[in-house]
Amino acid sequence: MSTATSFDVYQVPEEHEAIREAVRAVCDAKVAPNAAEADETGEFPKASYEALRAADFHAPHIPVEYGGAGADALATAIVIEEVARACASSSLIPAVNKLGTMPLLLAGSEELKRRYLTAVAAGEAMFSYCLSEPEAGSDAASMSTRAERDGDHYVLNGAKRWITNAGVSEYYTVFAVTDPAARSRGISAFVVEKSDPGVSFGAPEKKLGIKGSPTREVYFDNVRIPADRMIGEPGTGFATAMRTLDHTRVTIAAQAVGIAQGALDFAKGYVQERQQFGKAVAEFQGIQFLLADMGMKLEAARQLTYAAAGKSERGDVDLTYFGAAAKCFASDAAMEITTDAVQLLGGYGYTKDFPVERMMRDAKITQIYEGTNQVQRIVMARQLLKG
Ligand SMILES: Cc1cc2nc3c(=O)[nH]c(=O)nc-3n(C[C@H](O)[C@H](O)[C@H](O)COP(=O)(O)OP(=O)(O)OC[C@H]3O[C@@H](n4cnc5c(N)ncnc54)[C@H](O)[C@@H]3O)c2cc1C
Repeated sequence: MSTATSFDVYQVPEEHEAIREAVRAVCDAKVAPNAAEADETGEFPKASYEALRAADFHAPHIPVEYGGAGADALATAIVIEEVARACASSSLIPAVNKLGTMPLLLAGSEELKRRYLTAVAAGEAMFSYCLSEPEAGSDAASMSTRAERDGDHYVLNGAKRWITNAGVSEYYTVFAVTDPAARSRGISAFVVEKSDPGVSFGAPEKKLGIKGSPTREVYFDNVRIPADRMIGEPGTGFATAMRTLDHTRVTIAAQAVGIAQGALDFAKGYVQERQQFGKAVAEFQGIQFLLADMGMKLEAARQLTYAAAGKSERGDVDLTYFGAAAKCFASDAAMEITTDAVQLLGGYGYTKDFPVERMMRDAKITQIYEGTNQVQRIVMARQLLKG
C-alpha cells in the first residue's frame, strides 16, 4: 500500500512550481528579449541582471539572515533552469553567485559572511570563483598561485584562468597555495576584492557560446589582504573547493536542463508550423520519434537534477556522486537535445535567425566547466568503487 510520502518523493512542491512560474514570467518579458543581442555583442546583459535583481532572482540561495531570499537548493536550481531556458549567459548570474559564495557559506567565519553575503543579496555586488589556472585545469590541486603570510596579512601572486563574470564581480573566492610541501592540504581559500591593489584582469575570452557571460583571466600582483580574509583554516581550501562543487554541479545540471527545455520548446512550435509535402513536418513519424527522445532525455535529466538538489539541501553523504551524475547526464542530454533541435529546423536551424543554434553552442560549456564530463565520470567511479 502506498503512503502520501512515497508519492511526494516524485512531486515538486507547489511553492517551487510557483517560483518557476514567477521566474518564467520575468524571463519571458525581460531576459529572453536580450539573449540574442548578448550573444551577438558578447556583452554582459545588464538589463537582464537588473530584471533578475529587481525580482530577487540574482542570488536566491543567500540565507535570509544575510538579507537573501533564502531559496533552498531545489528552488535555486529551478530559478537557474528557468533563466537558462531564456538566456544561458544570464543564468550564470545566479549560478556563479552561488559558486562564488558557497565556500563562505560552507566554511567562512560569521564576520566574513556578514560582510560579503549581504552585499550580494542586495544586488550591489557579484561573486566569482577562482580555482582554475592556465596550467591547472582538471588537475586543480597542481595550482601555483601563492599566498604568503606577512605579519597579519597574506600576499597573493599568480594568475587564474577562465573566471566567469571576472571584471563584473566585486568579490572573488581565490584558492592559493600557502604550504607547497603539503600539496592539496597546503591550499587555502581567501576572499579577494576587485578593488584590492594588484588585482587586474585579462581581455575577455572569445568563446563558442555563453558569450554574454564574461570569462577572463584574473592576475594577482603582490595583492596584500588581511589574514582574516581567509575562508576557514589554513590548508582547508582545496577541500572547500571540492565541497563547493558537489553543491554547484547541481546548478550546472539545472542550467543544462533549462537550455535543453528552451530548445525543445522552440523546436516543438516550429515543426507544427513548418509545412513540407503538404503537411506540417510534425506529422511525420520520424520527426515525432526525435521529439519523443528529446522529451524523454530532458525529463530524465530534470528528475536526476532535482534528486541531486534534494541531496544538496539535506547534505546527504552521496551528494558527491549525485552532483557529478546530474551534471554529467544533464549536460550530455542538453548537447544531444539542442543538436536535435537544430536538426528539426533544417537549414533554418543553422542560422542566427532562430535561437536554437545559440542554444546548441551554449549547451557545450555545460559538458566542460565545473569539471569536464570525463572528470565527473572519474568522481562517480571513485564513489562507486569506494569501501
Ligand atoms: C567558459 C568557461 C568558464 C569557466 N568558468 C570558470 C570559473 O568561473 N572558475 C574556475 O575556476 N574555472 C572556470 N572554468 C574552467 C573549467 O572548469 C576548466 O576549463 C575545466 O575544469 C577543464 O580544465 P582545462 O580547460 O584545463 O582542461 P584540461 O584539464 O587540460 O583537459 C583537457 C582534456 O583532457 C581531459 N582530461 C583531463 N584529465 C583527465 C583524466 N584524468 N582522465 C580523463 N580525461 C582527462 C579533459 O576531460 C579534457 O577533455 C571555466 C571554463 C570555461 C571554458
